[in-house]
Amino acid sequence: MDFAGKKIIVTGGARGLGKQFAVDLKARGAKPFVVDVMQDTLDSLKKETGISGKVLDVTKEKDVEAFFIDYAKENGTPDVLVNNAGITSDGLFIKKKGDEVTKFPYANWSKVVDVNLHGVFLCGREAAYHMVRNGVKGVIINISSICRAGNLGQCNYSATKAAVVALTVTWSKELIKAGIRVGAIAPGYINTEMVAKIKPEMLEKIVSGIPAGRLGEMSEISKAVQFIIENDYFSGRVLEVDGGLRI
Ligand code: NDP
Repeated sequence: MDFAGKKIIVTGGARGLGKQFAVDLKARGAKPFVVDVMQDTLDSLKKETGISGKVLDVTKEKDVEAFFIDYAKENGTPDVLVNNAGITSDGLFIKKKGDEVTKFPYANWSKVVDVNLHGVFLCGREAAYHMVRNGVKGVIINISSICRAGNLGQCNYSATKAAVVALTVTWSKELIKAGIRVGAIAPGYINTEMVAKIKPEMLEKIVSGIPAGRLGEMSEISKAVQFIIENDYFSGRVLEVDGGLRI
């Protein structure tokens, strides 16, 4: 698929990686549209880049359905969905401090599963539905993570990011006959606000273990998004862009 005039929806795209994807796709001639939860970050995006967006919580089924119907009415069927919205809420599964043993709260498990898995499912389903109905040979890209292999303190996040790859393979098997490709990207540790939340001593330890010797840049993940869109033979697989960290 080439980029010119392509209608591309990026979830969680008002800031961070999603914003970078939208800006770079616009520069290549596509028409990105962003959904996110905060009106003020969407307003800042519009002011800074000219890219339009709408408030949408990807976990709300009825809202997601309504958004895709409205988007199709106003713009036509999307050519590409980048399922990027994701959150973390870290903590040990079971924590023992002295005599005190605490459990990882179900609420923290649940909110991450809601956004990172249910949100990806809902947006992916609606995008695919509109593409299939209208015969659009589109592309769906799910953003996973290196943590999909399992990561200390991130049982919720890791589980969702592994699940997102399983969805990618399954959807690709089901949708490729309709000409729809589905790919995933598993970034390593990237220079973003999400990574800035990691404690400095922990981050130092992480960076020292990255074979490339540094964090990844957002533009490097953005290039992976563009690769999947452009390469008509890429489907059902995950691109690992992690400076060689995953063995
Ligand atoms: P950010 O937190 O910077 O951006 C995520 C965006 O998603 C925010 O704008 C956030 O809104 C929005 N969002 C959160 N919940 C919802 C929701 N329910 N509906 C719609 N939008 C929502 O994250 P990053 O840019 O760092 O990460 C983007 C993706 O890349 C995520 O899926 C993440 O897991 C993945 N990833 C990131 C890595 C990294 O190093 N940063 C590494 C590997 C994977 P708000 O402003 O309210 O927070």
